Amino acid sequence: DQAVAERYGEMQWISRIHKAFDEDRFQLYHQRIEPLEGDDSAPPMVELLIRLEDESGQIVCPDAFIPAAERYGLISTIDRWVVGKALDRLATLRAHRPEDSTRFNINISGQSLGEKSFLEFVVQQFRRTGVDPELIHFEITETSAIADLRHAMQFIATLRSMGCRFVLDDFGKGLSSFSYLKNLPVDYLKIDGEFVRNLTSDPIQEALVGSMHQIAGVMGLKTIAESVENEETLEALRKIGVHFVQGFFLSRPEPLEPLEP
Ligand code: C2E
Ligand code: MG
Ligand code: MG
Repeated sequence: DQAVAERYGEMQWISRIHKAFDEDRFQLYHQRIEPLEGDDSAPPMVELLIRLEDESGQIVCPDAFIPAAERYGLISTIDRWVVGKALDRLATLRAHRPEDSTRFNINISGQSLGEKSFLEFVVQQFRRTGVDPELIHFEITETSAIADLRHAMQFIATLRSMGCRFVLDDFGKGLSSFSYLKNLPVDYLKIDGEFVRNLTSDPIQEALVGSMHQIAGVMGLKTIAESVENEETLEALRKIGVHFVQGFFLSRPEPLEPLEP
């Protein structure tokens, strides 16, 4: 019964998502990702996070509608909207502040990653906006990357050769992670928030985060810790040597616009 109720709730999202597109009610928020070791050579990054403004003006987080969008084939439409919007913003931003080298991290769902036409769409958006691909990092999740490894590899290889960088998001959530990691040519490893949030209360989690960071190092990848919520966690991450941090302790997600000076 619970599954039926859940499915019914998801189905209502189909029309709500279509309506939100029609009425231009999707928005991009951003949250800063900061280098931990005062590394001046590290480019500043922000992660783009989608929000939906509902019919009453309330801001809705993606966990509410992304599962439905994935189930009913709408996620690739959402991902395309995000990519188009992000590159438009970045083009405007660069026109006003050419010296700003902030990278935009864009989350891409596993479904889009496995779609041949999605890669073509992204390449075309770079052409349309003239944005330097080096300014874009794509965040992919291990589960999604694994679902269609061959397509995922092609997506990564093509965009990486253009200059984009890749982040393996939510790392550690599935414990087969380590073996798959060997096959995925990514540049950054983002340690899943669940490990980070429990870091200081549990020595096992701390050891796990330490070993993720170590393996990343052997592979030449930089590490990012997400969901840093307090100072003790930040200090523990500093001891481990994690390269970048992100979380409510440093800054909350905020609307991306207005970016005009
Ligand atoms: P994610 O990519 O792992 O993003 C991190 C999530 O953690 C974000 O939730 C962010 O707001 C939240 N967060 C940041 N700092 C903290 C903290 O200190 N503590 C806690 N507890 N949470 C923190 P959000 O924005 O609700 O996004 C949830 C998920 O939805 C994302 O997880 C991502 O998988 C997906 N998502 C978000 N935006 C997009 C998008 O544009 N496209 C796609 N395909 N998926 C998206
Ligand atoms: Mg992410
Ligand atoms: Mg994550």
